[in-house]
Amino acid sequence: MKAHDGMYIGGEWRSAAGQDTIAVVNPVDEQVIAHVPAGTAEDVDSAVHAARAALPAWAATPPAERAAKLTALRDHLVAHKDEIAATIGAELGAPPAFAQAVHTGLPIAIAGSYAELAASYAFEEKIGNSTVYQEPVGVVGAITPWNYPLHQIVNKVAPALAAGCTVVLKPAEDTPLTAQLFAEAVHEAGLPAGVFNLVTGLGPVAGQALAEHEGVDLVSFTGSTAVGRIIGATAGAAIKRVALELGGKSANVILPSADLAKAVNVGVANVMGNSGQTCSAWTRMLVHADRYDEAVELASAAAAKYTVGDRVGPLVNAKQLARVRGYIEKGVQEGARIVAGGAEAPLEQGYYVTPTVFADVTPEMTIAQEEIFGPVVSIIKYVDEDDALRIANGTVYGLAGGVWAGDEAEAVAFARRMDTGQVDINGGRFNPLAPFGGYKQSGVGRELGVHGLTEYLQTKSLQF
Ligand code: NAD
Repeated sequence: MKAHDGMYIGGEWRSAAGQDTIAVVNPVDEQVIAHVPAGTAEDVDSAVHAARAALPAWAATPPAERAAKLTALRDHLVAHKDEIAATIGAELGAPPAFAQAVHTGLPIAIAGSYAELAASYAFEEKIGNSTVYQEPVGVVGAITPWNYPLHQIVNKVAPALAAGCTVVLKPAEDTPLTAQLFAEAVHEAGLPAGVFNLVTGLGPVAGQALAEHEGVDLVSFTGSTAVGRIIGATAGAAIKRVALELGGKSANVILPSADLAKAVNVGVANVMGNSGQTCSAWTRMLVHADRYDEAVELASAAAAKYTVGDRVGPLVNAKQLARVRGYIEKGVQEGARIVAGGAEAPLEQGYYVTPTVFADVTPEMTIAQEEIFGPVVSIIKYVDEDDALRIANGTVYGLAGGVWAGDEAEAVAFARRMDTGQVDINGGRFNPLAPFGGYKQSGVGRELGVHGLTEYLQTKSLQF
């Protein structure tokens, strides 16, 4: 795999300040495929200075010109689509079709949506005797996870650039090659030097230095709730703007009137995509007691169709594999019943977990409360709608969810009572313009569409 041995700072690839590197491993065969530099506070400092220097001119660039640059960026991502998908296949282990359609196609669409929004958004409006301006917040420190390597980057960088902010990105250590390809696309698109900068490195070193840097005005973080808490505290102490997209334990609520087979099949598919490494995955399936046994049978049959290696890729690394296996063992210890899959390694090589379904899960069990981040579904029984709602809302998280019912209005009424940021009604359809983000400990702020853009803006009013 192609890898740069420097950082993209101030419009060029510069040598890293230190000598340390990070090995990138292909989770399919456990082989090292590349090394990238492990950035230090010194690299972060150079990148933040480059971003600050570029800020006044980029903030003053007319939105239509920023939109044109974003269109060019999208076009260069399109031109490198196959290389990006292959890279995500290599460093994350995503199967080719999923790497193309979701990991690459989706962020390209989102980049395009921000090119359009930059051109159409009202950055200036009249309110009575005032003119109200939406101005860029400033220098953005973006810290991203590995689970959707390009999507997570585009979700932050595209709206930040559309708003007129400049950016320093610290991508996840497992998937830095995709971030380097993104930097190449930025360069080819002709964005002015310093508008986007990339520092690869370890979270507690480069990530922390970025979050703490006084030249950063806004920290946008996606990742675990544990790290989000640290970043929120750091930003709070410095009165810095912060956006946090954190974990989830979303409920797929199947009401008695629903098409059970469809709800169960789509529900299982929702968790198996990306090997369960999706923060918004419906990892808890809630089924009425009268239809419980039927749902368990349908779910175990559905999970069995997800063959490991072919449809379901590996987990990203050995640590995640150990973590997910640990949760499966804990589920058994606490009395849940495995009806598909289990903790045994399905293949000799690679960080694979067999798609797993647990029945007889009760709401307080560890596997019903904590984020597993693997291909594991827990089926929980409820006795009536209030019980279902109590269970659905009974975790510290509130990121996403699903509701299924024969009557759409019935599903909507239930969804409105859920403490969660996004709910799909009878399967829904992903909308890249709809706000995405969490209630409760799933986060602060929203990404995507106009809501994602306003995260990077601050408001000034002039009175006449
Ligand atoms: P993580 O929190 O360990 O790492 C995320 C990023 O933060 C990485 O770039 C990492 O290097 C960096 N980081 C780690 N420690 C840091 C520190 N002390 N200071 C600054 N940066 C630091 O999470 P992960 O294991 O990479 O990703 C999995 C988690 O991300 C899951 O919990 C998942 O739910 C969450 N996630 C949430 C969303 C969302 O939109 N809500 C999306 C994807 C993933």
